[in-house]
Amino acid sequence: MQELILPKLKREEEDRPQINKIANGIQWIEVNRGCKRGCAFCYADTNYKVFDVPEIISNKVMIIGEGFLYDPKVKEKIIELGQKRVNGKVIYYGLNQGIDFRLLDKEIAELLSENWHT
Ligand code: SF4
Repeated sequence: MQELILPKLKREEEDRPQINKIANGIQWIEVNRGCKRGCAFCYADTNYKVFDVPEIISNKVMIIGEGFLYDPKVKEKIIELGQKRVNGKVIYYGLNQGIDFRLLDKEIAELLSENWHT
């Protein structure tokens, strides 16, 4: 049987600026980038980095990134994002790449439930 060897894919190495764009009425942002697990088959950047929460200007925000729960300030960011308002109205958040449930604990689940509209 032929052995399947998967090459380690790597994203481009240059230091790209934080994503913060409006498309189709949704603000797409990064608050962190990459993932620390480094699974061989995955394209996620292993050079994990965090960003400050950018100015929120839309009531619909999609957060991009595989490693949301790796962020050492994720609890503070969940609260900070939940307190944002645009035109006096709450923000609806999505996590485009989901979350790593191995890192989800009761406190984070409750923070998400109490602070975010989804
Ligand atoms: S994003 Fe998922 S598949 Fe990719 S390295 Fe992280 S844990 Fe592995």
